[in-house]
Amino acid sequence: MKASDLSRRNFLKGGAMALAGAVAAPLLAGCGNGRQHELDDEGNFKQKDPQPDFMKPPAPIADSQIVSTEKADVIIVGAGMSGLCAAISAAEEGGRVIVLEKTNTVNFRGYDYAAVNSRVQQQVGNHLDPVDVTREIMRFGAYKPNQKVVMQWVKHSGHVNDWLLEMALKKGCTVQHIWTYDEMVAEGATLPTRPSMTFVLEPTQEAIEKAPKGMIGGKPVIAMAYTLLSTAQDKGVDLRFKLPAVQLIREDDNKGRVTAVIAKDPEGKYHKFVGEKGIILCAGDYGHDKEMLHHYIPSADTVKINLYPSKANTGDGHKMGLWVGAAIDEGPHAPMYFDFGMVNAPGLADSVMRQP
Ligand SMILES: Cc1cc2nc3c(=O)[nH]c(=O)nc-3n(C[C@H](O)[C@H](O)[C@H](O)COP(=O)(O)OP(=O)(O)OC[C@H]3O[C@@H](n4cnc5c(N)ncnc54)[C@H](O)[C@@H]3O)c2cc1C
Repeated sequence: MKASDLSRRNFLKGGAMALAGAVAAPLLAGCGNGRQHELDDEGNFKQKDPQPDFMKPPAPIADSQIVSTEKADVIIVGAGMSGLCAAISAAEEGGRVIVLEKTNTVNFRGYDYAAVNSRVQQQVGNHLDPVDVTREIMRFGAYKPNQKVVMQWVKHSGHVNDWLLEMALKKGCTVQHIWTYDEMVAEGATLPTRPSMTFVLEPTQEAIEKAPKGMIGGKPVIAMAYTLLSTAQDKGVDLRFKLPAVQLIREDDNKGRVTAVIAKDPEGKYHKFVGEKGIILCAGDYGHDKEMLHHYIPSADTVKINLYPSKANTGDGHKMGLWVGAAIDEGPHAPMYFDFGMVNAPGLADSVMRQP
């Protein structure tokens, strides 16, 4: 039977009636992604509310409400791991960079870093086959990930890992540990690939004293936060804290380039930042926006612990993009659930379960 032949009437006809009573009710009440559906007269699904609130663009901020305008080559939204890496890279290429950060500090968490064939991995003889790694990540994600994105990581994570480590060593950090194959693979494991964990950092005393407080991960994460923040400052990156981006400006009635970001200061005043070469959104995930979580990851409804200490990650980058016409995967999206439950394989769980 073709999908179009499956009308509600056909479905309920005949001996399937009793079973349909049990099965169809939950089907009609809602689909897995949390959106409400019902069938039209032709038997097709129709969405009651195709547009949840977070997708609805707010009223544009008028020019008259903007109290200042600044220009740089690149404007970056968010001073986490990705925002600071992007800022340092752009500054290394000679770009003038402004980073807008919602909170009063940079935000980091974690412990160590995964990569494929970075220098430290070569040093301990831990060679990874890029195709095996890609296959394993795809398999682990039930073939849902975008293979092109996975391949990007597989191809480039090694030299990015070298770049990060070089920066950390320049800042006086030392390598506390390099993971080896034997530490990572439990006896009896059937994985066709080796784990991709790399190094753990030890910060300097200066890093410990100067690093922002309250980051999950202890000393290793302090080392990376200090490395990236101080390197960005050395390279002249202009960091603005407590200045959340609230809207993007896209030319030609949302058909042209995104040329500027509007940010809102603590007094409620709006400031415009023009990115002459580009705008990069690095505003993190949407773990603290309940509506987005429910919409894109309904399984998160039952998860009681959110390990992100900062409540700032409310999907602002995703929302601002959507409001000016960006596309987003329909969902359900991949959640990052920590799972350390693998029997007799603490290292393995750590290295494989969270990647990429
Ligand atoms: C407990 C825990 C442990 C982890 N351990 C590891 C690990 O060991 N190794 C690893 O590689 N990864 C680890 N991760 C994952 C890692 O932390 C994330 O993948 C990474 O931080 C994502 O970086 P990001 O820059 O995209 O986002 P974030 O680091 O979240 O940064 C986003 C930034 O944008 C800011 N922001 C938000 N909205 C706005 C706005 N409107 N305007 C301006 N700024 C805004 C936020 O305040 C934040 O500073 C861990 C995650 C958790 C929760």
